Amino acid sequence: MSVELIDLRSDTMSRPTQAMLHAMMTADHGDDRFGESAATRALEDHCAALFGKQAALFMPSGTMSNQIALRILAGHGREVLCEAGHHLNVHQASSAAALAGVAVNAVTTTDGFLRPETAARAIGDRARWIAEQPATGLVWTENTVSGRGGRVYPLALLTDVKHWSTHHGIAVYLDGARIMHAVAATGTTPAAWGHTNDAMTLSFTKGLGAPMGAVLLGTEDFIGTARRYRQWYGGALHQSGPMAAAALWALRHNSARLAEDHAGAAFFASVLAESPHFVVERPDTNIVHADVSRLACTPGEFVTRAAAAGVRLLPVRRTSVRAVFDVRTPRHRAVRAAERLIAVAGEVRPVRGTARSRWWDRIEAPHPVTVSHQAHSRTWG
Ligand SMILES: *Cc1c(COP(=O)(O)O)cnc(C)c1O
Repeated sequence: MSVELIDLRSDTMSRPTQAMLHAMMTADHGDDRFGESAATRALEDHCAALFGKQAALFMPSGTMSNQIALRILAGHGREVLCEAGHHLNVHQASSAAALAGVAVNAVTTTDGFLRPETAARAIGDRARWIAEQPATGLVWTENTVSGRGGRVYPLALLTDVKHWSTHHGIAVYLDGARIMHAVAATGTTPAAWGHTNDAMTLSFTKGLGAPMGAVLLGTEDFIGTARRYRQWYGGALHQSGPMAAAALWALRHNSARLAEDHAGAAFFASVLAESPHFVVERPDTNIVHADVSRLACTPGEFVTRAAAAGVRLLPVRRTSVRAVFDVRTPRHRAVRAAERLIAVAGEVRPVRGTARSRWWDRIEAPHPVTVSHQAHSRTWG
């Protein structure tokens, strides 16, 4: 008997619903290079208003958004400060250097969040006018933090980073591929996050479930320049209407339902945590990292065994595997996946003690913000 495959590798695999397909079928086919794609214009206007930005530009991918923003905001020959685990540093294959001529100053933190004090330490007492020092052009942030199991970057912390950066004349960018997950998890408005940066992107292909696309958001000036670079990079589209319509439909109809994916991920995590084989923290959003170091196999081997049992995962962070939840995985499938993984783990000899792990005993206060505004103004004026 063949088992039904449950693919938890990424939320990029979420499929368009019938209603989204209908929105695509009824979208116009105007040419966006001539400014005649009504659906693309509607998407851009909607996104700019939603995040409180002056202007928006539809992009084929989040990676292209990131690369173009990097090129404009950091500037050729300068450096970007970026937490070491962020997508820019880990998944974009040195393109910062190859395409934008920008060096990544990758800062390792314990929790995945760059803070004003860690940014200050990374720059050191470097005076920016000394010719031998790299000039820091940009501070890079990411929300949710995908390499940290979809953690939400606290709004207050991002606000502190923005204050610090502005004080030092450094621009801030937000790679908000999953920013709508942060919005859903915190009950905040998108505009609240829009205020924490000079420019940002949002991806439609993750949990929002559209087949492709991202949007770049910023000032009129910034978007004007980005439009020129989008042409350079081959990302200017002609009949983008159907793809923009899918993106707008996703934003309007799928943003609220992301909370269901978060609930599914939390439930999956709690089932795994009840078994002695995994160490699992309660997820903030739709990504679960399960530590498998109690098992006598590598994360890669565990992924292979899990696939044979009908659950596809990805190995992450040396000791863990990740599972991502989206519209394809309602709660009964999440539970079935967890049960299969527990069965797989049961067939692998454990390496150490079998103390039960309970994530609800291990929850810390959600990512405390240590920099008060008072301390902030004392230190940085
Ligand atoms: C997926 C992702 C990207 C890249 O988006 P693509 O549309 O796949 O190019 C960038 N940053 C983060 C945090 C992501 O999760």
